[in-house]
Amino acid sequence: MHTNALLDFSGLPRFDTVTPADVHPAVGALLTQARALVEQLTDDAVEASWETFAAPLSDCFEKLTRAWGIVCHLHAVNDIPEWREAYNRMLPEVSGFNAEIGQDLRLFAKYKALRNSSEYAELSMAQRRIVDHEIRDFHLAGAELPEDKKPLFKAITEELASLAAKFSENILDATNAFSEIVTDEAELAGLPDDVKQAARETAEKHFKASQDDESQSAPAWKFTLHMPSYLPVMQYADSRRLRAAMYRASATRASEFGPSQWDNTPLIQRILELRRDEARLLGYANYAEVSLVRKMAESVPQVLTFLRDLAVKARPFALKDMTELREFARLELDIETLEPWDVGYASEKLLQARYAFSEQEVKQYFTEAKVLAGLFHVIETLFGVCIRPDTAPVWHEDVRFFRIEAGSGDHAGQLIGQFYLDLYARETKRGGAWMDEAITRRRLSNNSIDSIQKPVAYLNCNFSRPVGEKDGMPRPATFTHDEVTTLFHEAGHGLHHLLTQVEELGVSGIHGVEWDAVELPSQFMENYCWEWSVVQEMTAHIDTGLPLPRELFDKMMAARNFQSGLQIVRQIEFSLFDMLLHSEFDPTVTDVGRSGVLDLLDEVRREVAVMMPPEWNRFPNSFSHIFAGGYGAGYFSYKWAEVLSADCYAAFEETGNAFDPATGKRYLDEILSVGGSRPALENFRAFRGRDPQVEALLRHSGMIPA
Ligand SMILES: [Zn+2]
Repeated sequence: MHTNALLDFSGLPRFDTVTPADVHPAVGALLTQARALVEQLTDDAVEASWETFAAPLSDCFEKLTRAWGIVCHLHAVNDIPEWREAYNRMLPEVSGFNAEIGQDLRLFAKYKALRNSSEYAELSMAQRRIVDHEIRDFHLAGAELPEDKKPLFKAITEELASLAAKFSENILDATNAFSEIVTDEAELAGLPDDVKQAARETAEKHFKASQDDESQSAPAWKFTLHMPSYLPVMQYADSRRLRAAMYRASATRASEFGPSQWDNTPLIQRILELRRDEARLLGYANYAEVSLVRKMAESVPQVLTFLRDLAVKARPFALKDMTELREFARLELDIETLEPWDVGYASEKLLQARYAFSEQEVKQYFTEAKVLAGLFHVIETLFGVCIRPDTAPVWHEDVRFFRIEAGSGDHAGQLIGQFYLDLYARETKRGGAWMDEAITRRRLSNNSIDSIQKPVAYLNCNFSRPVGEKDGMPRPATFTHDEVTTLFHEAGHGLHHLLTQVEELGVSGIHGVEWDAVELPSQFMENYCWEWSVVQEMTAHIDTGLPLPRELFDKMMAARNFQSGLQIVRQIEFSLFDMLLHSEFDPTVTDVGRSGVLDLLDEVRREVAVMMPPEWNRFPNSFSHIFAGGYGAGYFSYKWAEVLSADCYAAFEETGNAFDPATGKRYLDEILSVGGSRPALENFRAFRGRDPQVEALLRHSGMIPA
């Protein structure tokens, strides 16, 4: 008899036997079971206690999450037609189920009864927090609204979803509609060969499609506003005319300067109005307050103060960066007045003039085996664990599997968790790098001897695989320093998941961690890629076997903070604009002509920016992070998390030892182990003994002497 691999919860995912044909029956059966259990548990006769209600519900949903998680994972790393079809077939069913659960007022009533019961005070901290999160999420989904307000709330939510989708579509359509055809080869000066080649091929396709026989004979190059075409032009093209044309097209996308059907101006207005209405229905003054409910930051004034303080400190450095750039452009590039379309170009030239070193040369030192050993060594030293190769069924021959064991003491050798490592890019693999969970740590309710379920993580990257041979042996893969940093970043997310000590699913590992604190453990790990002792240990030149020379490392360090002032004020500009737009700004007041949104942006720029873009710049019209992504009143999270991770790392620096054992133990115990079971701010205070401070970030960015 064939057992469905997705319904086997006895251990690791069965990548050896699972087939796309398993998806529909398994996920379908789990959905049916879950619905039946919800019916059963919401019966009036069922007591709203942890044991009779919350625990069985969590057990049941975990099965669905694990089975569907395997499908999502395979869809992401093995996107062949069969898996894509199996995934797409069940996706609406799973999304529909989640929406249904989020709206089920009977579940909401049970959670409220549990919170109001005498049992609540006796629950563990983790259990109480799970109940609180459930109630919070129901509240934010409008569950507590009076019946007569619910249709309005639903209409707002739906309109917001479709406006977000339309906002992105408009940007995409406007992006696709523009092209700059170059026929004079002289205009390509400065561009790298691969960029020129790509532009040539794009032009050929273009003319083939338009069947314009006459133009086909003359050579032409086509540039577009898609990043792989746009960015190299802004960075390398000597032609100022070309850069200016591309910049203008990009900065006016989806605005009143283009076709009206793609103009995002009215959508921005409407999104802001609806978000404010939604917030008021829920009992908040504005949308920013709603956004902060799930975040570590506590209030709008706190975020504004955070951003403005940082701006005051960073702005002098940004001004200095800008003055240097203007000087350099005038003296070396003959650019009398530096315009926005010159900034990327002049910066690249200045970077080369000042810190020239070859990324390619650096890459020869970061050979795969050495890098992995280096990463593992950092983890082992910091957290007193031991990482060993392990075996498991995998989805591709490139994938490796490891186990983390307790390193010393009474529990030495005891399993803590396991992880898959899938390093190389493949045609069937989604781009980027990410950590995902296969199994989450928790206590199992059957009271057997070892009743802790051990966590398992997926670490996925898209690095280039090894190429070529040397002496009849395959040459190892080599990574850029950026790629190594990415690997450390994802490993940091993985450690958050794997080293947790929490025993309740809903707040174990990264579950239940505030949105603006999730990047703390990942960014924290990146710091080790800049420690000389670590870099020395994890490099061996592909031909000579020698470690990275100190001289080359010093150049990398010097270039690390190139224009960091400019970069920080730019992030602050976006964050402050986003926060003010969703709090103080009144979307119903509009001046005739120019929109109030643009006036607000100008105000923000006058406060923090060091270069004013042209009057026709319509940046908000393509700011999809906040209007179409999940970053509305949340853009500040990038900088917020960086402050946290830098300040945590500074705790190690202050001891004079990046691997100080006591500090490592405290970081493990107070931050990584705790996961979402305690508010992130309390975790931070318990580790650092005080509130977060920005000094470490400023110092790491070269703005305070080290
Ligand atoms: Zn991350």
